[in-house]
Amino acid sequence: DSLLVQIQNLKMYFQTEGSLSLHKKYIKAVDDVSFELFKGETFGLVGESGCGKSTLGRTILGLYKPNAGKVIFEGEDIFSFNNKRMKEMRKKIQLIFQDPSASLNPRKTINDILNEPFHIHQVGTKIERKAKIKDLMERVGLSEYHLSRYPHEMSGGQKQRVGIARALALNPKLIICDEPVSALDVSIQAQVINLLEDLQKEYDLTYLFISHNLSVVHHICDRVGVMYLGKLVEIGSHEDIYRNTQHPYAKALISAIPNADPDDRRERILLKGDVPSPANPPSGCRFHTRCPEAIDLCSQEEPLLKEVFAGHCAACHLVK
Ligand code: SF4
Ligand code: MG
Repeated sequence: DSLLVQIQNLKMYFQTEGSLSLHKKYIKAVDDVSFELFKGETFGLVGESGCGKSTLGRTILGLYKPNAGKVIFEGEDIFSFNNKRMKEMRKKIQLIFQDPSASLNPRKTINDILNEPFHIHQVGTKIERKAKIKDLMERVGLSEYHLSRYPHEMSGGQKQRVGIARALALNPKLIICDEPVSALDVSIQAQVINLLEDLQKEYDLTYLFISHNLSVVHHICDRVGVMYLGKLVEIGSHEDIYRNTQHPYAKALISAIPNADPDDRRERILLKGDVPSPANPPSGCRFHTRCPEAIDLCSQEEPLLKEVFAGHCAACHLVK
């Protein structure tokens, strides 16, 4: 497999509002995260809301400038780019949003919405754009008839198809799918997931698939990374993450998936307490306040992400 993106020691902190300059407080949304994306794969990034997965996705898109670390896309550090090159790069990395109602301008027709990326990046003649938009509509299962509609005249699933068409317009290499089906009816979710899978094959796309829903990720991802409070705590192949789980937090998340496999009789692991604030994360292992397996060392020393077996890493003192 060939490398598309390398995320290296990425840190994205936000200063909390109202804090005095002498005592700056930071939300450590993404705190020293490293992993790779390979061409053509679907990488699932999972964790509870507020764990930093959306911030991580947006930093990879170049929407935020990180406090430290690098995003190397096709061999080049995107944060070293000038504005012109950043704009070029933006064509190659696109985003599909969670809520299609909020991400489509209600005052624009679908045709205008789909024309926008071509307009912003000055791609194609009027005739070329028209042909491309017609083709995109077909690819996402909509018809030319919808082009004159406004978003509110369409269903949630149709709107998300428009969002997908818009993301595909400039022939991207990587699409960051941020909870792309969470806002949709369960009956529509599978259709949209199937569409994403078909488009991936057709266009040779790489997906970073962000979700709090492990059942969805289980269905489509080749590899999975589990995040907790700004840290990547486990990363591995889809198969090993589910069958050979190492990290206690990942074990708890996976135990909560409604089970379709009768051979797998895992017991549900219930975690105590809420996720602590990322402005003031626990010492040592950030999971120690909720971990059912914590030992004394856990509150004092931070476990590093280390390889447990080939291609599989976990950050836990109990993992040897
Ligand atoms: Fe639990 Fe300790 Fe492992 Fe953290 S390092 S996950 S607290 S056992
Ligand atoms: Mg989110």
